[in-house]
Amino acid sequence: MRNFLLAGLLLSSFFVSAQLTAIKCGKLIDGKNDQALLNKAILVEGNMIKDIVEQSAIPRNATVIDLNNKTVLPGLIDCHTHVLLQGDITAEDYNEQLLKESIPYRTLRASVACKIALMNGFTTIRDLETEGAMYADVDLKKAINNNVIPGPRMFVSTRAINTTGHYSIGNSEFSWELHMPKGIQEITGADEARRAVREQISYGADWIKIYADRRYYRLPDSSFRSLVNFTKEEIEAIADETIKSGKFLASHAVTRDGIIYSLNAGARTIEHGFAMDDECMELMIKKNAYWCPTATVIDFVAEGRAKAGNPINAQMLRTLPAIFKKALQKGVKIAFGTDAGGFDWQKVPQAREFSFYVQWGMTPMQAIKSATTVAAELLDKKGLLGEISKGAIADIIAVDGDPLLDIKLLEKVSFVMKDGKVVK
Ligand SMILES: [Zn+2]
Repeated sequence: MRNFLLAGLLLSSFFVSAQLTAIKCGKLIDGKNDQALLNKAILVEGNMIKDIVEQSAIPRNATVIDLNNKTVLPGLIDCHTHVLLQGDITAEDYNEQLLKESIPYRTLRASVACKIALMNGFTTIRDLETEGAMYADVDLKKAINNNVIPGPRMFVSTRAINTTGHYSIGNSEFSWELHMPKGIQEITGADEARRAVREQISYGADWIKIYADRRYYRLPDSSFRSLVNFTKEEIEAIADETIKSGKFLASHAVTRDGIIYSLNAGARTIEHGFAMDDECMELMIKKNAYWCPTATVIDFVAEGRAKAGNPINAQMLRTLPAIFKKALQKGVKIAFGTDAGGFDWQKVPQAREFSFYVQWGMTPMQAIKSATTVAAELLDKKGLLGEISKGAIADIIAVDGDPLLDIKLLEKVSFVMKDGKVVK
């Protein structure tokens, strides 16, 4: 009897969850094809895409969402964000947040950032460290997954790792009697490196993030260089422990010093990489690594930092377009990453990043793929995220007009479905 009841319950819940939705698409950019498709409808069941059909073949029992006046795309993926940061052009901006805002207060602000990202069509983000807010990114991810707050699907990296004394807030900025909060977890030595990775993973890190280089400078031949933060033993211990645990390593590396060091250790992604040279590009390709260029953040901070006496970002911004073009021609995998949070979530839409990529040589379709299929590959979620195809998760957005003609239209997303639920 009990078994019959259970079977009955399962059967009825099956019919409830089998509600079918058909999204009629004016134009469909599925993330895979090089052209937009016409007259298509996406069939969504639960949180999955069941099929893509001709509009004439929509089943009768489906609830129809008519987006025939829009272009429909996969939910966008930003591979480099900081929801727990609200803009830091200068050291003062950064210190203000770490010194005057408690972690609960910063988390409340982060929940607003999460909502902004989702409403702008970013249904997935890889959040690359909390900048001193410990494991609050794990809480945000949990709150989103439990429908406590609206937000994108999050891949989190918790605290990030750097070596002792090499990250803000700098001890010499304040009285040495004060114990300053740090934007990262400090380590010295291979054992502490392993401990940090194990600890972060135990608290819920999906990725491990390191800061590989610092103190950028320019040689007389105009090439950029920097100091490396880790000993070979330290960076190799981090990469080894990360990869052995089935996780991936993301490395903040701006010049060849940090980039080559990180790639040889086993980093999957290079963050920023503004001064990437030919040798770096070739190694990127050889190692099958991804580059997140974060053009939006360098554009946002360059002028303010130059005014504050540090012109290096402005100099890198001038050489970046040619580097981007060359990397694109050579075939470096470029994944969409903005560093949102490094710029103010409220002031700049993440989708501005697309315009830089297109200005610097990508076709609009290539730029869209950088934030869909390429980003999904980076996350090791190929086939599930970043595409509109049978068996993928139903993360679907739409814009008015054709973003292949005007990429800036992606800054005004008018429809968002995440996990099969319409949220905008
Ligand atoms: Zn960042």
